[in-house]
Amino acid sequence: MGLALSDILAARRVIRGVADATPFVPSPYMSGVCGQDFLLKLENMQPIGAFKLRGAYNAVMGLPAGSAGVTCCSTGNHGRGVAYAARRRGLRAVICMSSLVPQAKIDGIRALGAEIRICGTCQDDALAESQRLVAAEGLAEISPFDDPLVIAGQGTIGLEMLEARPDLHTLLVPLSGGGLAAGVAVAAKAINPAIRVIGITMERGAAMHASLVAGHPVEVDEVPSLADSLGGGIGLQNRLSFPLCRDLLDDIVLVSEEEIRDAMQVLFYEDRIVAEGACVVGLAATLAGKLPAPAGPVGTIITGRNLDMAMFHKIMAGEDIRLGDTVVKGRRYGT
Ligand SMILES: *Cc1c(COP(=O)(O)O)cnc(C)c1O
Repeated sequence: MGLALSDILAARRVIRGVADATPFVPSPYMSGVCGQDFLLKLENMQPIGAFKLRGAYNAVMGLPAGSAGVTCCSTGNHGRGVAYAARRRGLRAVICMSSLVPQAKIDGIRALGAEIRICGTCQDDALAESQRLVAAEGLAEISPFDDPLVIAGQGTIGLEMLEARPDLHTLLVPLSGGGLAAGVAVAAKAINPAIRVIGITMERGAAMHASLVAGHPVEVDEVPSLADSLGGGIGLQNRLSFPLCRDLLDDIVLVSEEEIRDAMQVLFYEDRIVAEGACVVGLAATLAGKLPAPAGPVGTIITGRNLDMAMFHKIMAGEDIRLGDTVVKGRRYGT
């Protein structure tokens, strides 16, 4: 099963008026660093604070009339998108998450009227509960990344970036389950087959990277990260996002927790933007010199802003951050 530009154009019609085009703005600082225009797609400005509304809304609107409700597993933002979309359609929503999900994300989902289940310590535990609800209560499950309507919804971001800047040379896409990267790559490469699409993710617990190296979906240990939205596996039964990422991504680059910390500071102190660790991995890879010098403009996606503000303050103040059994050393910006 593939995915075509026509699916993404159809998704755009469905989400219009709900998850609309976001600004795509240059970062003068990052442009200076990489020697080319470096543009930020501000998905942190979506009504739920993250891009996942696009895919979730497209998928919820695709459910047949008379559905009993929806359920999903989530690292936080997909659940918020599903909750938002379900409320608009008047459907019951049950969002399953692990204990790794930050409280700020849980509170945001509860405020949208969804039911919340906290199960276990990893995304797989949350997925098991969501699948149990499908069998026990007849809810429809919406995968955060392995669903054609979700991927098509996320792909509308690629469409918007290429329409605004047909001269883009490289796209740096935060990568977890790969729904975002797959959708963006399908759209971007349909418009410009020569464009480079690079997935970026954290060093620890990078399931898609490990799966691509192995040649098939594999499990990885899920560990706490500043990029909490990038945690979780890709599903051993993955049908869509794995083959699309395998076929369409030009490279995958991994960044450390310290590099994520530095990039969060750059985005805040230079561009004055508050964003999650997951969003800044494209900046992190560029700042760390982990990418070849681009021969044209670069675009990255600032995927969301739903982070714990107390932790954000600490990172900006240069304090140490405890993540499970490890500590990310603090560093004052500019020192
Ligand atoms: C889900 C998410 C991602 C990664 O998207 P995938 O489709 O799972 O690869 C990146 N950033 C944020 C903020 C997210 O919520």
